[in-house]
Order: sequence, then structure tokens, then C-alpha cells
Amino acid sequence: MAAKKLLVVNAGSSSLKFKLFGLEPFAPTMSGMFDRIGDKANCVLKASAPSPDGAAKPRKWEIKMQAANHVEAMTGMLGFFREQYDKAFSSQVMAVGHRIVHGMDISQPVLLNTDVMAKIKAAAVLAPLHNPPGLQGIEAAQRVFQGVPQVAVFDTAFHQTMPPHAYMYALPYDLYEKHKIRRYGFHGTSHKYLAEQAAVMLNKPVGQTNVITCHLGSGSSIAAIKGGHCVDTTMGMTPLEGLMMGTRCGDLDPAVVLHIQNQMGLSTKDTDTLLNKKSGLLGVCGHNDLRAVIEGAQGGKPRDALGLAMFVYRVQKYIGAYTAALGGHVDAVVFSAGIGENSSIIRQLILAPLKGVGLSVDRAANDATVDGKQGEISDSGSKTKILVIPTDEELSIATQTLEVVRGETAMANEPAAAA
Ligand code: ADP
Repeated sequence: MAAKKLLVVNAGSSSLKFKLFGLEPFAPTMSGMFDRIGDKANCVLKASAPSPDGAAKPRKWEIKMQAANHVEAMTGMLGFFREQYDKAFSSQVMAVGHRIVHGMDISQPVLLNTDVMAKIKAAAVLAPLHNPPGLQGIEAAQRVFQGVPQVAVFDTAFHQTMPPHAYMYALPYDLYEKHKIRRYGFHGTSHKYLAEQAAVMLNKPVGQTNVITCHLGSGSSIAAIKGGHCVDTTMGMTPLEGLMMGTRCGDLDPAVVLHIQNQMGLSTKDTDTLLNKKSGLLGVCGHNDLRAVIEGAQGGKPRDALGLAMFVYRVQKYIGAYTAALGGHVDAVVFSAGIGENSSIIRQLILAPLKGVGLSVDRAANDATVDGKQGEISDSGSKTKILVIPTDEELSIATQTLEVVRGETAMANEPAAAA
């Protein structure tokens, strides 16, 4: 029986998100998540799939299932596919695509082999929270789906086209040469997808578009994309740089770090926790969900109003900076992810003062484009289009995985060159 499904996996330290795609036609067929891996009492698999009879209500599952590690979770997931979803399942997987956060200088999605695995391991020093579970997900899939091609798609890959003047830090050059300390950027799969979708909406080839993509979620980043290639992005060597986020501080004078360590005696570990997990909206307002911050600000709470203003101001600053990075020619500014897709209030606050840089929002269109809707929210007088595009990182990973697998298959089938 022909292999007809592609599996996309995103492994976290205690979770395993998955999405299955059918190939004929190419479309998602089921998605879900194994949560609380390692926590015996609370381990659960949740999944949903469109109803097979076309009814509006999707099929949903929530199953308590024990998994001490990622291999057991992956085994449980395969068992679930076979027993509850499709009895012929295991013979149908033609490839597995993995989301890997840090690939250092790897610029393309690649077929996994021992060399690539070693690079992912080496990059774990720069992404200690993300790369180790990513590797666990790969090792689990290699054991459970033996002989099936596995592809890694890196969050950093799309940003590898940044020019040196954008990716270098003004530090001694040795640090770059010997320790690979430079800016890498993240959310690349999302920014790539958004740039491609924006080109479709602009009705132009992606190579002829200049766009600024704002991925605003609990982690947030903005990218300047020229002709489909990233020229700058707000996150740096790690996902801490740039915008203010749910719990991350974003841009900061590095002397602040020295000060809190030297004057306040914070350890490296505690400083890391403070900057990554206790800062951002949480640090300023006391909660990290922007909905609560907006509500507080509307209710007259000064710290919420301050946090909201800080969040908005940083996005505005980077839109201005990236307009300059694109030479003043911007076809579209795109909003996406949890905040960018759902909060018309935030978009209005960001955009209202930016008429001078060619952005003019249509209030009714802005208010109507929420809850996963895609659309244009600029008015007819806006020099630059403003678009809302729900991001789909899994779809982008699936597409890129398919390209790698089909490319490799094509290469394997080519006759060997004459010696
Ligand atoms: P991530 O994938 O980085 O975890 P998401 O892209 O799912 O994050 O975004 C989650 C965030 O989106 C939430 O923390 C919340 O602050 C924000 N969010 C979701 N809906 C709204 C809304 N209607 N208004 C404001 N913020 C929202």
C-alpha cells in the first residue's frame, strides 16, 4: 500500500505536538498533543480531526495515557492512530518532519543523519530549553517509525540570509569566529510562511515583495523580508532579544545584567530565569496574558497601562526601523500569531500613530478580522497594505519536509555521473 501521510512533530520538554497531513490532496487530516509526558497521573493525549462524513463538528479525543518519556509518548500516539483513527496507519507514514529551534548555520531543512544530529546537539548550548527535547522527539520517531525518512526544519534557517551587518554583534570578532556568537533569529518557519502568503494576497511573485512580518504571541518577533529573503529580525543569538514578550524582557542594556549580578548577587541561573521567565509583561504588569493586561489598562490599572504602552511602542519602533532596512519600500505589514491574529485593539494601538510611515488602518475591517480570519485591514488611502494572516508553522514544516524527501528521492533515482 502506498505511503500517504506525512507527520509533523514538535517536541517540547514534556509535550509532543503532532499534525498529520494527507498527500492526495495535500491537507491536514488530524492534529493533537501529548501533554505532561513523565507525569504519571496527568499524562494525556488530546487530538481532533475533521469528521469523516463532512459534518461541521470535528471528531475529538482526550485519552489518559501514561508515557514516561518521548519514546513511550510516540508509541502511544502511533497506537492511538491505529486503534482509534485508522487501522492501516503505520504503513502510511512516508516522512516525519521535526521542528527544531536552533540549527546554528544550517540554512535549509535537511534529511536527518548523524552529522545533522551532532549539529543540533552542538547548538543546544544556544537553545538549552528547546534543542534537547527536539532531539528526544527525533530519537523517538526514529525508533517508532523505523526506516521512515526524518527531516529537521529549523526556526533559524529562514534568517540565514541576513547580511553580516545585521547578524553581527559589535563584540570582539573572535567571539563570532570561535564561539559562533552572532544573531540567528527565530520563528523562521512562521515568517517564511507569512511572507509567501502575503505575496499571494498582494498578487505578486514573492521575489518582488518587501514585507514586514509581525509574529506577536507569547514569544514575539518581527522580520524584514526583501524579495522573500530575510534581511533582519528582532530575535538574536537566543529568543530573548527584541520585542517585549509575555515573560521575556527583549532588548536590554547588557550592563543591567552585570549590575544585577554584581550589585544584587544574582547567580547566572537566577539571572537567566529573571530575564526569560519573570520579565516582559509578567514582570511589569504581574500577568503575562495580554488579554488580562488590556483589561487591566481599560480598568485604569497603571502598571497594565504601562506594560501595554511598552509592548506597543517596541513594535512601532521596529516597524519604523525595518521600513528603513527595506529602503522605505514596504508592500505590506503583516500581523500574525496569538496576539497579531486576535487582538484588533493591539493592532489599532500600534497602527494609529503610523500614518506618517504610510500605514492607515480601516477600523471596521480591523475589528472584523479576528479569530483565525485572514484579510486586509488597511484603508484605501494606505500607502502600505496591512494584512492579518493566521500563521501555520506545521503546514510550512510539512511543505518543506515534502520538498526535502522528494528532492532526495529524485537525487537517489538519478543515474550516477560518469567517472
Ligand atoms: P505561543 O505559540 O508563542 O505560545 P500564541 O501565538 O499562541 O503563543 O499566543 C498566545 C498569546 O496570545 C496569549 O498569551 C495571549 O496573550 C495572546 N492572545 C490570544 N488572544 C488574544 C486576544 N484576543 N487579545 C489579546 N491577546 C490575545
